Amino acid sequence: MVGDAIDPWGSSTVKDYNRLRQEFGIEPVAPLLARFPRPSSHLSRGIDFGHRDLGRVVDAIDGHAPFAVMSGIKPTGDFHLGNKMTADDMVYFQSLSKKATVYYSIADVEAYCDNGITFEESAKIALRNVADLLALGLDPDRAVVYFQSQEVRVMRFAALFSRGVTNNMLKAIYGDRQIGLYISALMVAGDILMPQLPEFGGPKPVLVPVGADQDPHIRLARDMAAKYREEFKFVPPSAIYHRLMLSLNGDAKMSKRSVSSSFTLDDQPAAAAKKVLSAFTGGRDTVEEQRRLGGRADICPVYDLYRFHFALDDAHADRVYSECVKGVRMCGDCKQEASRLVKAYMEEHRKKRDLMMPEAKRLLSKGTKGFAG
Ligand code: SF4
Repeated sequence: MVGDAIDPWGSSTVKDYNRLRQEFGIEPVAPLLARFPRPSSHLSRGIDFGHRDLGRVVDAIDGHAPFAVMSGIKPTGDFHLGNKMTADDMVYFQSLSKKATVYYSIADVEAYCDNGITFEESAKIALRNVADLLALGLDPDRAVVYFQSQEVRVMRFAALFSRGVTNNMLKAIYGDRQIGLYISALMVAGDILMPQLPEFGGPKPVLVPVGADQDPHIRLARDMAAKYREEFKFVPPSAIYHRLMLSLNGDAKMSKRSVSSSFTLDDQPAAAAKKVLSAFTGGRDTVEEQRRLGGRADICPVYDLYRFHFALDDAHADRVYSECVKGVRMCGDCKQEASRLVKAYMEEHRKKRDLMMPEAKRLLSKGTKGFAG
């Protein structure tokens, strides 16, 4: 795909989401929007741009039938804004039905294979990650949080699936990678399909909210669901895809690996606010040009901060966009406003997160116990 690169373990860039959808057979979200009486900001602002079999999940919501929302985190550091996007989707879909259960995998095997982070270190990082997730609104009473390395069902699935794939198949999906990453990919497929085991209530729709760069994992899990359908009666997992945010320094994707490209929810609020003030913008060279030609919100990471996370509501996000492109809004003022919003949000979030640490500890030590025998 010219200009686009999809890599679940590296830097991914997507310039043309329509083309990405067509290339990989991802459906547009727009035709389903009318079925959401209370759309999330991700749905209403076009951040969630595509899906696979989302209709099956909406049917479950409408029919008060059980479904799962499944996602995970590779515990390599504090919660960043990309993690928050996935978390916001999880919390939203959990809130749509009392029959929704969230499954959240701490992908410590992947963190070891990809980043060399020990399981002990992952456990420390995961505690803060889960507290962040709870502070963002996850209902712990309908949530299962577990370490990939401690969940024997996921390990068993990975072993089983390894007999159902060839090296060429994995190469076609992921490219030529080290064996450890192929193993962790098979474990991710295990994570995605585990909620359909009998001890978790059996086959059901499972929605996986992910960034566009994680589609290879969805394709592998769906392939495995088809291959082992007879044995496990798997329902093909569904997915909803969100766009990737621009990094603060103008690169195509925010990354945990680049300190200046983003901030985490655990950064000092004042430090994060300062990063916003020195962010790259889509502004013109001079004020005169900006007034005459308008700003370029579509390539501006500051606009992404409003649109993806910090606008007060949809009308506010729309106003920032239209004032920018009409040349009414100047970048200095715009960054000051975004910086104030970021600081206020993070101060509030930190308080909530600190209060959630004991609950995060409880959830992690409980693992799948209580949901499965
Ligand atoms: S006015 Fe705001 S949204 Fe527009 S280019 Fe400048 S910083 Fe970006």
